[in-house]
Amino acid sequence: MTGFVITPPTTASLAISGSDQVFPLRRVFCVGRNYAAHAREMGADPDREPPFFFSKPADAVVPASGTLPYPPATRELHHEVELVVALKEGGADIAPERALDLVWGYAVGLDLTRRDLQAIAKKDGRPWDMAKGFDASAPCSPLQPLSCTGHPQQGRIWLEVNGELKQEGNLDEMIWPVADVISYLSRFVTLAPGDLIFTGTPSGVGALNPGDRVRGGVEGVTTFELVVAGE
Ligand code: MN
Repeated sequence: MTGFVITPPTTASLAISGSDQVFPLRRVFCVGRNYAAHAREMGADPDREPPFFFSKPADAVVPASGTLPYPPATRELHHEVELVVALKEGGADIAPERALDLVWGYAVGLDLTRRDLQAIAKKDGRPWDMAKGFDASAPCSPLQPLSCTGHPQQGRIWLEVNGELKQEGNLDEMIWPVADVISYLSRFVTLAPGDLIFTGTPSGVGALNPGDRVRGGVEGVTTFELVVAGE
């Protein structure tokens, strides 16, 4: 090989709290229905399902601050506030007891969803990619180093729209805790440094509209605030 035929894409990255360095991103995985109350609100039975996964492009990760573009091709953009895990190490078939050793740090993110497109995809048995993996579909706070957060096992996770509380839950309500999520996911793919995992959302998902001010956070990790772009 003598070189690339076009300029290589830049490496997507995430800011790190209190640092000029950034975290390089490889892939973004998301867990579906990891809080029982949200599984129920989506019409599923939380007791019967093993975790399932979908993914977003690494460059769908944008800062959860400032102004967020309202995406095209939807009339029902939904918020899902989630604890985000960043991996510094990878591997396959990771035992749950070892899984947290792979973690570099934690953040708070939004798994933005075109709920109208997702409903059509579910009805017709089609992929979720265009419902979940669109541009800027993964706003994320700066990463918090482990030295600041430890491994959060419990703590309030919440989201407000225009000052009104919409989503609220606790990390200890996760059906599959972070270690189990990493372990389970590593049976399907070989995880690698730079992978991010969105760990699921508590109940109360709902629509975001142009001009909405969104605040969210996870107790013991961090908070974020952004505005959805106007018409
Ligand atoms: Mn989600």
